[in-house]
Amino acid sequence: METLGIDIGGTKIAGGICDEKGNIRCLQRVPTPEDAADINAAVADIYRRCKGEGDIRAIGISAAGNIASDRRTVSFAANLPAWHQYPLADAIEDLVGDGVKVIVENDANAAGWGEYRFGAGRGTHNMVMITVGTGVGGAIIVNDRLVRGGFGMAGEIGHIVMVPDGEACGCGLFGCAEQYASGSALERFAWSAARRQPNQSEHLLEACEYDRSKLIGPMVRDAAQQGDPTANEAFNLLGEWLGRLMANLSAVLDPEAFVIGGGVAEVGGMLLDPARAAFSRYLQASMYRQHPSILEARAGGKAGIIGAADLARDIDLARVD
Ligand SMILES: [Zn+2]
Repeated sequence: METLGIDIGGTKIAGGICDEKGNIRCLQRVPTPEDAADINAAVADIYRRCKGEGDIRAIGISAAGNIASDRRTVSFAANLPAWHQYPLADAIEDLVGDGVKVIVENDANAAGWGEYRFGAGRGTHNMVMITVGTGVGGAIIVNDRLVRGGFGMAGEIGHIVMVPDGEACGCGLFGCAEQYASGSALERFAWSAARRQPNQSEHLLEACEYDRSKLIGPMVRDAAQQGDPTANEAFNLLGEWLGRLMANLSAVLDPEAFVIGGGVAEVGGMLLDPARAAFSRYLQASMYRQHPSILEARAGGKAGIIGAADLARDIDLARVD
């Protein structure tokens, strides 16, 4: 049975028909409009364009926002003020018609589900996905179920406070994991190391023209590959924090695998090696327990689409609780 998976991000909307193996057909991409009604229209348009190519019974939407436990309403979306307590599923069902049902899931949860079903986490029963991008996102799978929590807010692991009174976070708290284990943290670590040791940071300083505001994550990656010792240090420090975060999560959830995704994780071993080493150091009873695998995400940018589409399969089969 086929469903339509649609990923509504801050800059683009992408979607297509997904089969039960996680393959996508009729993939469409459009820029994300600002207005909520225009976003609904864009989603309905993707449905209409794909409709002739498959028997679409349900639509799964991955949305960058907090989703209420009804899996239909966006409670809040930082990048889309129009989505405050917004009944997204109702709006799209009305537009699309045809008796097609809609389910909405938070983007990190949808991507995590995609990795669990079709990507690096396939075959596990307990998995945690950590998305290391500008911020830190998360998704938790326990006993083959996506953990949504009592109010739909579970899995926000980027906002576990790691450092009391630490760096200010966009969420209003201080010292969140997102401020230490994200791409933004990598830039901060690299800049601070470069200021201390400019002669060890030549490639990075040249790339950003000695201007903090021009420094972006890929420059740190390139500088590390070109041999700047401080850029390497920045990745080691990022890995250290990521390892610490995973050890904390293992204390609570004891997953079989961590899947690390997001733009920053694309460097692979440069981040994952120090993260694995730190994880072992911080894990409680490290010598006396089985360690989870720490894996690079595999489904890439399409994880949200295939994850949302797969979650929509559940609603069509009336297996949703
Ligand atoms: Zn926070």
